[in-house]
Amino acid sequence: IAAHLKNMEASLDRLEAISHQEPEVIDPDSPVELAGVRGEIMFKAVSFGYEDEMVLRNVNVKVTPGEVVGIVGPSGAGKTTFINLVLRLYDPGEGVVMLDGHDLRALRQRDLRNAISFVPQEPLLFNCSARENILIGRPDATDQEIEKAARQARAHDFISAMEQGYETILGEKGTRLSGGQRQRLALARAFLRRSPILVLDEAASALDSDNEALVQQALLELTRNKTVFIIAHRFSTLSVVNRILVLDQGEVVGDGTSAELEKTCGLYRELRERQRFE
Ligand code: ADP
Repeated sequence: IAAHLKNMEASLDRLEAISHQEPEVIDPDSPVELAGVRGEIMFKAVSFGYEDEMVLRNVNVKVTPGEVVGIVGPSGAGKTTFINLVLRLYDPGEGVVMLDGHDLRALRQRDLRNAISFVPQEPLLFNCSARENILIGRPDATDQEIEKAARQARAHDFISAMEQGYETILGEKGTRLSGGQRQRLALARAFLRRSPILVLDEAASALDSDNEALVQQALLELTRNKTVFIIAHRFSTLSVVNRILVLDQGEVVGDGTSAELEKTCGLYRELRERQRFE
């Protein structure tokens, strides 16, 4: 018991340090009231480093409402960091990130987060029912809305086929589901949210072709009428985007449609030839 207590003491110290940490990203004293988000995102001369080393360098990008933007580049290029700044998980070191012309630092974090659906690479699924796992997208949704979102995400069929349908418990981290099914469940959450902005870090793992086609169909529908950023690992995903940003060592080295980049961006051609964007 004495040995256990010693171990626990160390853990408690760490927990205490975490619980006392002051967040670096804070709300302003008098935030701008966001009414009816259009979904224009602008990076103006943004540079950023987690520590001393610069990870994004002088990034200038304006994304108009409804644009679907794919982000590609080699591993470590700064793709995740770019979306971390859109989500305001960090503030830029220099320059400004804006939503509808407002500096993100002038907004309430709650308002910003409410305007965004974020689908991470490994969606966090909980050991509760399929219904409850989708409900996380918008906790006040009705059962009809949940089913509609699941249908849109091409998840309704596999959910209904489980022994207790929507009430089936998915297991720790959704272990009962295949990778493609987990992704479609995460997309159902995003459908339910109906937010004007969607940020999606695509799973890098390969899907079988059936799942791939279903995810593709769902994505096409989900991205409609939204401002979208997708970190694309699979070549096929770029069929749903209308603009591509190519990042390399923290800089935007290409910005345009696939056909344009094919002509102007050597790195894009290289990535395309390998058929994988990482
Ligand atoms: P990508 O998503 O394109 O693979 P990232 O944005 O994850 O690239 O990383 C860009 C660079 O920032 C890498 O050199 C990485 O090591 C560094 N980096 C990423 N996250 C952190 C962090 N939390 N702290 C320090 N450095 C980080």
